[in-house]
Amino acid sequence: MHLIDLHCDMIWKLLKDRAEGKEVDICRNEGAVSLLGLEKAESMAQFFAAFVYMGKFQGKGRWSKGYREALMMLKALDEEIERTEGKIEWAKNAGDVLGTHRQGKIAAIKSVEEGGVLEEKISRLETFYEEGVRLLTLTWNEENCIGYPNSRDRNIMEKGLKKFGMEVVSFMNEKGMIIDVSHLSDQGFWDVICLSKAPVVASHSNARSLCAHPRNLTDEMLLELGNHGGVVGLNLYPYFVDKNGRSNMEKLAVHLRHMVSVAGEDAVAIGTDFDGFDEGISSIKNIGQMPDFYDYLKKHGFTEKILEKVWYKNALRIMAEVMK
Ligand SMILES: [Zn+2]
Repeated sequence: MHLIDLHCDMIWKLLKDRAEGKEVDICRNEGAVSLLGLEKAESMAQFFAAFVYMGKFQGKGRWSKGYREALMMLKALDEEIERTEGKIEWAKNAGDVLGTHRQGKIAAIKSVEEGGVLEEKISRLETFYEEGVRLLTLTWNEENCIGYPNSRDRNIMEKGLKKFGMEVVSFMNEKGMIIDVSHLSDQGFWDVICLSKAPVVASHSNARSLCAHPRNLTDEMLLELGNHGGVVGLNLYPYFVDKNGRSNMEKLAVHLRHMVSVAGEDAVAIGTDFDGFDEGISSIKNIGQMPDFYDYLKKHGFTEKILEKVWYKNALRIMAEVMK
């Protein structure tokens, strides 16, 4: 079964490993995402996030440093895709993905995770767009110029988008970029749902009613996301599956079943978060094992029709609706 994964942190992991002296690249690494793994997964498209970890920048000018880091990571991603010698090709919309797929190749889509690096400058978002970025995760886990993040602190959770965040939403609507509400505060989620003229994604989040983590979505949020044509990507990070960080296919299947029943079968996709975590225990360790997960789900009550939607059709549908 073909797969579209809405979120992975491969480039973040490769750069981190290289800084530690390891010789790794997209074709050869011990992380969760590699060319071989994507081929095994029968990947149709993979979103590659340039995730900027702002914790490493302090003081004045830190967001500008973060912006330069994002551009550096996007460039590094270009170099990795180049290494695959045409086996993976960049895509900017659903048509590109289908075209690439017809040639027997894998499509790659650029995203940026941590909208704070825009530092209230729409021109930076324009630059990202020109660089091929088609999805922006508005926040990570700290307050930024767009809005407030998910938090266990109710005061933060009740604060939503800022004025600049509203400008970002309308710019992205206009340009045909996918707005990603994963990591956002609950109020931020509702602000985006109200404001956005296009459906949005929660690229890598699970069900909060099953695992009470603020990164997961409540049933009300899942329902409304689905009602607005949005898509939520099932996240494999063990602590978003189970509060003790012990995940397995059975527990993931429970999240998936719940998400499908609340948000609807047209609203759930895959957003692995691979290479973005190494904590917790999971029986699925890399993208090449996704076909095993598919087989497990098929044996445990999921119809092929629903799995087809979750594996790639829903992601492709929202890409066709949003990206120009
Ligand atoms: Zn994330």
